[in-house]
Amino acid sequence: IRAPESKQTTTLQVAVRCRPLTPAERSRYREVIRIENDKVVVVSDSDGSRKQEKRYTFDYALGPEYKNQDIYNRVVAPMIQGVCQGLNATVFAYGATGSGKTYTMAGRPDDPGLMVLSLQEIFRCVSKEEKDHKYEVTCSYLEVYNEVIYDLLDKSSGHLELREDPEQGIVVAGLRRVQVNSTAKILELLHVGNSRRKTEKTDANAISSRSHAVLEIMVKKFYRNHHGSQVLQGKMALVDLAGSERASETNNVGRKLRDGANINKSLLALANCINALGKQQKKGLAYVPYRNSKLTRILKDGLSGNSRTCMIATVSFADHQYHHTMNTLKYANRAKEI
Ligand code: ADP
Ligand code: MG
Repeated sequence: IRAPESKQTTTLQVAVRCRPLTPAERSRYREVIRIENDKVVVVSDSDGSRKQEKRYTFDYALGPEYKNQDIYNRVVAPMIQGVCQGLNATVFAYGATGSGKTYTMAGRPDDPGLMVLSLQEIFRCVSKEEKDHKYEVTCSYLEVYNEVIYDLLDKSSGHLELREDPEQGIVVAGLRRVQVNSTAKILELLHVGNSRRKTEKTDANAISSRSHAVLEIMVKKFYRNHHGSQVLQGKMALVDLAGSERASETNNVGRKLRDGANINKSLLALANCINALGKQQKKGLAYVPYRNSKLTRILKDGLSGNSRTCMIATVSFADHQYHHTMNTLKYANRAKEI
């Protein structure tokens, strides 16, 4: 069923998205970032001076004037055709809490996010071909919290386990898959799912999202050739990662500290996979260490073989976010550089 793993390597694109300051922020904080040519992020010193500016170049650097639709058109739209033809794709939003990850991935009714726009385009793509082939589009939405997997579409679900399936690869046993077919349904599904995500109050942030949310869109194409009936299956994972701020920066004890440690475990494992993908792209090395966390095991198909991966690093312009911004830019830069 799965597209054969070939020598061809995964492509990785890195985009930085800078969210606008809110009106309240605008009166209180200085802007320490500017963007040039939709590609270069220039960071002033934390005191606002330009003595030691740092410049980072990415595949895309998109400022506050861009809507989700613009981010989608440039970064994600080119992946969709492949997903409808049996290829895998992964898009994830990485950044500190409050930098705009959930806005980018889920969005709002007046500015729908990448999850919604991707699904809409997949429906469009499928309906164009439907007179020739039968298609089935399904979604699942899960959360990895504290290295435990929960079903965001099923309130009564307990802990879910990963299983190796000889045909399907790594699957989450018992995860609900739903067929959706309208924008309203998608928005509702994401809204309900997101309201079930676990959030905790911490010292560092009023509300800090400590969970990773993964929307998986599966597209099956049924067709016939001289071998008989065939199924082609493409998967797209859209991931709203937990806040990337360091656990050590929050003044927590007990359960929340363990949350932090595990979040770092998943983010660290993802970072290592991204590094490996970067190496693969440059030097042709093949091994990606996806086994080290639940998140990377779930994302394995989208991080290996013939798939396309895109990282959207979200940052804020404001000077009080300077350290988070620098950490995010360094992480994104490492992803693309190695
Ligand atoms: P995160 O998920 O990274 O913690 P959010 O997506 O919740 O951050 O964004 C934090 C706040 O900033 C929210 O109030 C959100 O509506 C606002 N915001 C984020 N990105 C944008 C954007 N591109 N345009 C307008 N408002 C945004
Ligand atoms: Mg969020």
